[in-house]
Amino acid sequence: MCGIVGITGSKDASSKVHQALLILQHRGQDSAGITSHDPRTARFMTHKDLGQVSEVFGIKELAKLTGDIAIGHTRYSTIGEIRESDLQPMMVSYPYTVAMAHNGNLSNYHELKRDLTTQGHFFTSDNDLEVLLHLLTRELSQASEGAFFDKLTSAVKEILRTAEGGFSVVATIGGEGLMAFRDRFGIRPLVYGVKRNEDRTLSHCFASETSVLNFLGYQTIGEVAAGELILVRPDGTLLKKNLTKEEKLPCMFEWIYFAGAESTIEGRSVYETRLNLGRELATKVRLDPEAKDIDIVVPVPDTSRASAIALSEAIGLPYREVLIKNRYVQRSFIQNGQDRRKMTVNLKFNVIREQVEGKTVLLVDDSIVRGTTSQKIVNLLKEHGAKKVYLASTCPPIVSPCYYGIDFPTSGELVASSRSRTELEAYLGVARVYYNDISNLHDALGEVGFCRSCLNSEYPYPVREVHHVS
Ligand code: SF4
Repeated sequence: MCGIVGITGSKDASSKVHQALLILQHRGQDSAGITSHDPRTARFMTHKDLGQVSEVFGIKELAKLTGDIAIGHTRYSTIGEIRESDLQPMMVSYPYTVAMAHNGNLSNYHELKRDLTTQGHFFTSDNDLEVLLHLLTRELSQASEGAFFDKLTSAVKEILRTAEGGFSVVATIGGEGLMAFRDRFGIRPLVYGVKRNEDRTLSHCFASETSVLNFLGYQTIGEVAAGELILVRPDGTLLKKNLTKEEKLPCMFEWIYFAGAESTIEGRSVYETRLNLGRELATKVRLDPEAKDIDIVVPVPDTSRASAIALSEAIGLPYREVLIKNRYVQRSFIQNGQDRRKMTVNLKFNVIREQVEGKTVLLVDDSIVRGTTSQKIVNLLKEHGAKKVYLASTCPPIVSPCYYGIDFPTSGELVASSRSRTELEAYLGVARVYYNDISNLHDALGEVGFCRSCLNSEYPYPVREVHHVS
């Protein structure tokens, strides 16, 4: 999972993209990058590096990124090692100069790369984005004469026909404007908005989350639809086309974990959905005759706070924030590799002993993926005197890999995939595990359809070799 943003029609585009990346920092902390395009000098300028946004960009770096178009990326890597050649945005210069950033994964990456290689394309990275870039340039160079948007439409249509996976893309194309498109099921998020500059010209912004639009003062136009291509021309004209007809399946994990609580996805408030998920969970707890001894409801900060509040209200028991998070340690799920993840969990939480000692705790988390964090937190609570711990997960059991950009690639790593409920409880050291099920997710999200392949092993594309670099 990554954060992406693209802004056009703004004198300080790179500065705005920088602010947007700070807002999207929770979506990835491995690296950050911005490419700006200055039509007056016909130059593209890029700065990208490993690290968080505030480490990668200072005043000096931003000052060099001139122009009224800029795209940005903050990276969440789904493989162990991060290589500089994989950093985004990436560029090509034939037949058009294109700088591109994306969020997601191609599930048929290897086939596409093999085909492109046999056609004479050369690669410098293992990043899916480079394949998307080469697909675009191949199709654009083969396109017949005509208006640029027509050529772009046929190129992106071919990409959407051949590229399987979940991906959202923003790109600036020399002399032609800023474009955005989304995979045919709309798995990875992308929204856009508009605002009027002081001189009455229009500025457009594409971003992974509505929080960016709100913060930067853009009026939200809506979601980029599944399989939709949008091009904002240099004069501010917006052209768009729906290129596919598949049912939209946005990733349910955005509402559960990834997206900022202040964002809205598919018209559904993330915060409100998390409250709903907590209420749904409360019905499970209420039905359990054993769970009559709960003293306090405790969230695992930060993502599960809203759900824990709603759950505690629904069952009428006190809500207590007894896990104190060290905010300077990165989110453990976003860390690469199990060892780093374990180390992060160790550093991440402290416990308010006086609030826990002798109590039976209902711990609420957004999900149980590998179980590393849950196991550690349960132990921490017990070490600080908790008498008994129940664990409630707003996300249903994750039993299958995600091929579309979330880092739970193999069933073996998923703690719920091969264990019975009793085995899972013993493994995590809890008296009981409560999960929402898929129907609870439906109830919490209302009419919105969503991808749930990791919950039911039914995938929208054929399952192929796994490739994960974002
Ligand atoms: S498989 Fe799961 S995590 Fe992956 S996109 Fe679908 S819902 Fe999201």
